[in-house]
Amino acid sequence: MSRATAVAVGGSFSTTARRRRELAVPVRCSLSAAGLAAVAPILRDLKMKCDTPLPVLRHVANSMSADMRAGLATNGGSDLKMILSYVDSLPTGNELGLFYALDLGGTNFRVLRVQLGGKEERIIDTEFEQVSIPQELMYGTTEELFDFIVSGLARFVEKESTKFHLAEGSKREIGFTFSFPVKQTSIDSGILIKWTKGFAVSGTAGRDVVVCLNEALVRQGLDIRVSALVNDAVSTLAGAHYWDEDVKVAVILGTGTNACYVESIEAIPKLQGSAYGSGKTIINIEWGAFSTGLPLTEFDREMDSESINPGEQLFEKTISGMYLGEIVRRVLKKMAKASTLFGDSFPEKLSVPFSLSTPHLCTMQQDDSGDLDKVGLILSDTLGVKNSSLGARKTVQDICDTIVKRGSRLAGAGIVGILQKVEQDSIGQIFQKRTVVAMDGGLYEHYPQYRHYLKEAVAELLGVEVFKNVFIEHTKDGSGIGAALLAAANSKYFA
Ligand code: ADP
Ligand code: MG
Repeated sequence: MSRATAVAVGGSFSTTARRRRELAVPVRCSLSAAGLAAVAPILRDLKMKCDTPLPVLRHVANSMSADMRAGLATNGGSDLKMILSYVDSLPTGNELGLFYALDLGGTNFRVLRVQLGGKEERIIDTEFEQVSIPQELMYGTTEELFDFIVSGLARFVEKESTKFHLAEGSKREIGFTFSFPVKQTSIDSGILIKWTKGFAVSGTAGRDVVVCLNEALVRQGLDIRVSALVNDAVSTLAGAHYWDEDVKVAVILGTGTNACYVESIEAIPKLQGSAYGSGKTIINIEWGAFSTGLPLTEFDREMDSESINPGEQLFEKTISGMYLGEIVRRVLKKMAKASTLFGDSFPEKLSVPFSLSTPHLCTMQQDDSGDLDKVGLILSDTLGVKNSSLGARKTVQDICDTIVKRGSRLAGAGIVGILQKVEQDSIGQIFQKRTVVAMDGGLYEHYPQYRHYLKEAVAELLGVEVFKNVFIEHTKDGSGIGAALLAAANSKYFA
């Protein structure tokens, strides 16, 4: 393994701390006065444009609420699609039996099985596996991608041990979590609107992704029934609600981002009176497409225009894991060109798109050593900056903080937008009792500063008293269990 890969991956550094110390890149003497002089105005301008004081946050929260309403009123009425999930009853706890889940995210896919034991025993046993999606499949054909997923699923099913057992007369059923925008047509069908998060698989947009999955299942001779198609935010909400009935909203912050919430049927004019038993349903906001009032910079605009989906998913491009590292890289590139921040020669790797990842930012922000050794290592290993000065390392940390703070505070404002929308429709529903927002995704899970700034922004917007009732909680693996629970709730065999 090269030094670069050894250091670059993951957010944890405890096990390799000693080795890293040995590898530490010597800190160059302080940044020259001329170098600093050229960096300062760029940094100042960046901070000003990324600033998210209360009025900016409030505008974003209010716009989120307004755009949600517009998207509920008519199809196409807003950036926000406000997609009906067809999940109108959440798991009750009574679900029984063996169920599978398959989660296609942006970076990984996961397979999971769970033996459900009803109200008393709940989750008797569960196992899961995670496989990273090879880069080339993101640009391949639908058949290649789905065959890859199904072969992973088939290997997992083969390993099913005697701890798991199917009820007599039933066959395996699976909940399919698909974390891309889908126009849901029933609980077990939905058309891919478009790929996001850098995916450009040919032939899938406009098709029912359950049909794509079923075709691959047939090609590979795997006998399993897809009983629910759900978005990852929706499965997270279902999984978290299984344990805590006060969960009303779920937010994903991983490679991409999305949110969903429990909505009243009468608040959805575009449904035009369709009958729904429970009077409630989960709405998949697809909030990655939100765009109103975002404080954007030249770096965001350039990244967007060079992306495979220019003009789309602007909220996602400002707040989610796929993009934060790339924004910082673009800032550093400009600084390196304009100054001697990284010495006299321009580090070529700084020109490679996406060479700096969000886990890199996270590792750099955790570095509290006097010499900022870890920052120095990442700069040298991933960007080819041979000897960075302490001043340059501090500047890099400062930029990471600026971009991450903006993203996380905007995510917090988005959450408040959802909460206040529901509260406005039904005073007291949210703010006068315990309300839980279930959070999931690698970015939220692994980035302490991101979590901190997000909660801080929610508290600023809501005020201390209301914030006491709002609990923003990480639900680990809620999504997989949630999809399996929804598969159980929609089982053909356990009606
Ligand atoms: P997906 O979004 O593909 O379903 P995850 O929820 O696991 O998958 O999120 C993966 C994303 O989380 C990565 O693309 C990365 O942006 C972010 N991430 C993972 N680890 C870290 C980390 N240590 N620090 C910051 N962000 C991280
Ligand atoms: Mg995911």
